Amino acid sequence: MKLLEGKVALITGATRGIGRGIAQAYAAQGANVAFTYASSAAKAEALEKELAETGITAKGYQSNAGDFDASQDLVTQVVKDFGTVDILINNAGITRDTLLMRMSEEQWDEVMQTNLKSAFNLTKAVLRTMLKARSGSIINMSSVVGVKGNAGQANYAASKAGILGFTKSVALELGSRNIRCNAIAPGFIETEMTDALDADTVQGWREAIPLKRGGTPEDVANACVFLGSDMSTYITGQTLNVDGGMLT
Ligand code: NDP
Repeated sequence: MKLLEGKVALITGATRGIGRGIAQAYAAQGANVAFTYASSAAKAEALEKELAETGITAKGYQSNAGDFDASQDLVTQVVKDFGTVDILINNAGITRDTLLMRMSEEQWDEVMQTNLKSAFNLTKAVLRTMLKARSGSIINMSSVVGVKGNAGQANYAASKAGILGFTKSVALELGSRNIRCNAIAPGFIETEMTDALDADTVQGWREAIPLKRGGTPEDVANACVFLGSDMSTYITGQTLNVDGGMLT
């Protein structure tokens, strides 16, 4: 028996990196996967096909997670297409890094909207469905930076710290309805994005991590499988660091 057999998962931002890894792991565990993206239509189509080959139902939706109305419309459409939403993974996120001295209001607002308001938008949108089902698992993607802070990322760190407060509050409000809400705080995860970085810098980061390597999208995806599955039915309000021991 696969761990997510028959469950419907909605994953935001799955055309690349961690989100894509989560979609693949969920499909492998038998979940039907609805996923979103901002603009990569060709990548979404390719992923849809790849996931469907595992025998599950998969569909990609272009939807801005930072837009409240678009998020409500998205969930209405997903419920129409899939029947329900059992698991919501608020994964979509962006960076607009710069020192506070140089940070524009626009850079602050963009990051808050895509990383933090998106979790509010989508969580509100799935609530009615999860309340009716008296069951649900919501997983919010934070970051070690949200726990620790980081120079040059005041906007990003604030958004990811906000995710932690939001996660705990949702867990407290909705626990009595059997709706769980947890956060994952990935450390340094090697994706297409980090491929562009200087090799010596990346090697230095790897050496500073107790497990002596960067994480993979699959490492984060496996934690998402656990938190979305019935293996974690007594776990809510928690932050799981997936960071090779970086914050220890
Ligand atoms: P990527 O930049 O590789 O992928 C981001 C995904 O989000 C893409 O699918 C993108 O779609 C989508 N997206 C961006 N903006 C929106 C939006 N407004 N609405 C809907 N979808 C959107 O990111 P990562 O895989 O690296 O990161 C995923 C999450 O993990 C983020 O929340 C990030 O903050 C967090 N994280 C990442 C770490 C890392 O080391 N990589 C470490 C800690 C946390 P499109 O392709 O169309 O642009």
